[in-house]
Amino acid sequence: MSQVIGIDLGGSKIALGLVNSQDEIVARRRIDTHAEAGSSAVVERIAAEVEALKATLPPEEGLAAVGVGAPGPVDHISGKLLTLVNLPGISNSPFRRMLAERLSLPVALDHDAKAAALGEFHYGAGRDGESMIYIVIGTGVGAAIIYQGKLIYGEGNSAGESGHMTVDPKGHPCHCGSRGCLETYTSGPALAKHYAAASGQTVTGAEVSKRAMAGDEIALDVLAAAGRALGIAIASLAMTVNIERFVIGGSVAQAGDLLLDAARESLKHYSFKAVSAKVKVSATSLGEDAPILGAAWLARQKLAEPG
Ligand SMILES: [Zn+2]
Repeated sequence: MSQVIGIDLGGSKIALGLVNSQDEIVARRRIDTHAEAGSSAVVERIAAEVEALKATLPPEEGLAAVGVGAPGPVDHISGKLLTLVNLPGISNSPFRRMLAERLSLPVALDHDAKAAALGEFHYGAGRDGESMIYIVIGTGVGAAIIYQGKLIYGEGNSAGESGHMTVDPKGHPCHCGSRGCLETYTSGPALAKHYAAASGQTVTGAEVSKRAMAGDEIALDVLAAAGRALGIAIASLAMTVNIERFVIGGSVAQAGDLLLDAARESLKHYSFKAVSAKVKVSATSLGEDAPILGAAWLARQKLAEPG
């Protein structure tokens, strides 16, 4: 089988991985996104990296396809990036078609949370199950639901916007216009904001996690509150769709059990015991490789499509 490339297109960085037929990443590239330069410029920059990876292949092995996990919202059917509030430079562009034409290769494109979920489902923490919910907690919070091996998109393609599930109607206002969303407790910027409110110190979300690991009481409280909110969201999701495997990824998941133990405890209080007893909450086992491997999997699916 030929090789494919999985691409994690992020707001500030683009990570590319050349994936062999054993689903191993055998070569990598990482560049800045510079979305402000526009979608054509980003396509060109990606194409240069794809060519560089392709050049590492032995002549008898070709590059068959490319998969991209992109910041949402995306239209996975047409391959368009929609209105990306934080990345206006590449918003509203037919990104998949542009990249496919530039590379003369089949290109698959989906939401980055869904790509990461597929990576974990096929190769990581969810590989022994049939269904899984992946929650990514970073600058923003999103989810992807896989039921019996298939991603659920919903009728309007909005399934998995779980970062904006209300976990407290009296909670903090959210940038989405609602209040008390999961994201207002758990995202990196939310950790930073709650830590600053309690300590008077301005630090990043990653620093809050680091301080919690070092035993800082305020940081531990902020992560515990984030974990409790996450547990409420997991309880509601588990009660709604009765999926038992939850995998938590994204930069905030690096806090590990400091976050997840509070979630495991809290979900018991907001769901039937028969449901919560079977729910397993674990951290990503692939980390930053999840979206690359998931995008590579999407690329292979693209090759299997008729026509
Ligand atoms: Zn919200």
